[in-house]
Amino acid sequence: VVDLGMPTRSVITTCAYCGVGCSFKAELKGDELVRMVPYKDGGANEGHSCVKGRFAFGYATHPDRQMSPLVRERITDEWRPVSWEEAIQTVATRMRDIQSRHGVGSIGGITSSRCTNEEVYVVQKMVRAAFGNNNVDTCARVCHSPTGYGLKQTFGTSAGTQDFKSVEEADVIMVIGANPTDAHPVFASRMKQRLRKGAKLIVLDPRRIDLVRSPHIEAEYHLKLAPGTNVAIINAFAHVVITEGLVDEDFVAERCEDFDEWASFIAQPENSPESLEEITGVPAAEVRAAARMYAAGPNSAIYYGLGVTEHSQGSTMVMGMANLAMATGNIGRNGVGINPLRGQNNVQGSCDMGSFPHELPGYRHVSDESVRDIYSQLWGTPILPEPGLRIPNMFDAAIDGTFRALFVQGEDIAQSDPNTKHVFAALESLELCVVQDLFLNETSKFAHVFLPGTSFLEKDGTFTNAERRINRVRPVMKPKTGKHEWEIVAEIAQAMGYPMHYDSTSQIMDEIALTTPTFAGVSFDLLDRVGSVQWPCNDNAPLGTPIMHEGGFVRGKGRFMPTNYVPTKERSTRKYPLILTTGRILSQYNVGAQTRRTANVAWHPEDTLEIHPHDAEVRGINDGDRVSLASRVGQTSLHARISDRMPVGVVYTTFHHPVTGANVVTTEHSDWATNCPEYKVTAVQVGLQSPR
Ligand code: SF4
Repeated sequence: VVDLGMPTRSVITTCAYCGVGCSFKAELKGDELVRMVPYKDGGANEGHSCVKGRFAFGYATHPDRQMSPLVRERITDEWRPVSWEEAIQTVATRMRDIQSRHGVGSIGGITSSRCTNEEVYVVQKMVRAAFGNNNVDTCARVCHSPTGYGLKQTFGTSAGTQDFKSVEEADVIMVIGANPTDAHPVFASRMKQRLRKGAKLIVLDPRRIDLVRSPHIEAEYHLKLAPGTNVAIINAFAHVVITEGLVDEDFVAERCEDFDEWASFIAQPENSPESLEEITGVPAAEVRAAARMYAAGPNSAIYYGLGVTEHSQGSTMVMGMANLAMATGNIGRNGVGINPLRGQNNVQGSCDMGSFPHELPGYRHVSDESVRDIYSQLWGTPILPEPGLRIPNMFDAAIDGTFRALFVQGEDIAQSDPNTKHVFAALESLELCVVQDLFLNETSKFAHVFLPGTSFLEKDGTFTNAERRINRVRPVMKPKTGKHEWEIVAEIAQAMGYPMHYDSTSQIMDEIALTTPTFAGVSFDLLDRVGSVQWPCNDNAPLGTPIMHEGGFVRGKGRFMPTNYVPTKERSTRKYPLILTTGRILSQYNVGAQTRRTANVAWHPEDTLEIHPHDAEVRGINDGDRVSLASRVGQTSLHARISDRMPVGVVYTTFHHPVTGANVVTTEHSDWATNCPEYKVTAVQVGLQSPR
């Protein structure tokens, strides 16, 4: 970090990294950003920050940034810099041409969880109103789409139930498939404070994450379940609750439905911890003791991450956790709840803004005529009642030749999506790939038009964090590219013949508020006045809603859902005897496009493969050796790190660097309800390639 001296002005804005959504004072000297100071009145962080938000902002002004639009005929051609007018006209003309030859449904778009609510809203509007179809999906497809599905089925809305502060009243904290210390550091500190004050901790994770044993914290139970057996273990927890009389009868009777059917399924002997011990690998006695602890609370809260969602039964597991919380009455007050820890800064927001192919803003299904009417009248064009294509469907249809053009907003799908070979084949099949991003990323290698995007320092809008908190993102500098991303999208729509114009992002938020009941009370004026609000924010809750489902569930009664355990198809075999699972590291973020262009890269210059000492020894692997990593779909190589944090039989890596490409080996398996990829379970073989 270069200290440029005393700042002359400051702007309060929001971190562009994880779903904690910390507020910062961006301090400037002239036009130069001097430092990012965590903002003491920030609703999510109260003056705290981590190494990403505080120090890793240099990417925003990095020389790698592409500042002018680029166009080329074929992906093998050299890029040609063009004016904004030419780039926008090229996109519009080619999109319309493709539709005239292949049909209205032959094009679509992907929104980004790193962009603002307003930027996401205009992309889904462009797809629905200008493209004339519902082929819009969000990159949340590959992370938290099961959260959206599972919580809507059980509670009635696709969002976490608590504010972060709620953890301060939790007596038992259960962390499932999440590593908050690395992925959500500021919230992790808040959680650790509560644990040091005496809250009990249960961790469900194959790997020994930092939280299991850190200064003055020792988890009561670390259940090292086999990857892919989440649903089996949550059913075993529920079995203990049902069969040992630990149900909160009053809560269930007053607030829930479909309990009896679920309870009789869960009570069956095959769901007992003893029956499932061989499958989960967790001693039954530990499961029983942990389940009793959770049920005893009195306030028990579940916090979870992608270790829950990125499985073939991701949605089932989300519903399983919701069932457990309802059965024990752990919903609707401080200190309890089901809390997804969102990866990217605006995962919640990108989902809220209607970028799923089956849902308009506010999670309302496109088949609902009354909802379609709201948008048809306001936008002056009919909305199709049939859901559009999800991202994996777009890839398959591209290979089949029925899907011909894709607009990709701020997401490097070539690096982040599973089964790289398949993704490359899909992208290569497109007639037109348009990428809007800060950098020429891996996906832009397949693009025909590149539209340079803006960093968070140039954006004007809002992000919504993991606790549904809508934070203002205020511009610190003018767009370095000469145009805001929302302006570019609106101009593409205009050039396609659909009138779309806004004078400001505040106008876009006003339109969101006008059409989305959970955002009805939100405006930039309100946010500037009160700092931030958590949706729902409307006449019933003019200053927002920190805790959801207090008096009753959003859907009326909380609904118990069936959670039959179905083993993943991905099994270890003689050829691929180990299971690979993936995750993140503190200093890096997602595919690394931002953090790799900051000093943070020094802490984690490459992805490595964590392997248990026993698994390393039998393969003749020493710490630091180069090893090959292969699955049935692809292979890569990286350096080994021997670690007893791993259980025998399981290896672990991150996906922050394109060279090592963990997604070269991840497979086509995905969640049955949402197609969220099964990143967390891949059968692999590991072999020594070259000694250190
Ligand atoms: Fe940014 Fe997340 Fe770190 Fe907060 S915890 S500073 S939001 S990366």
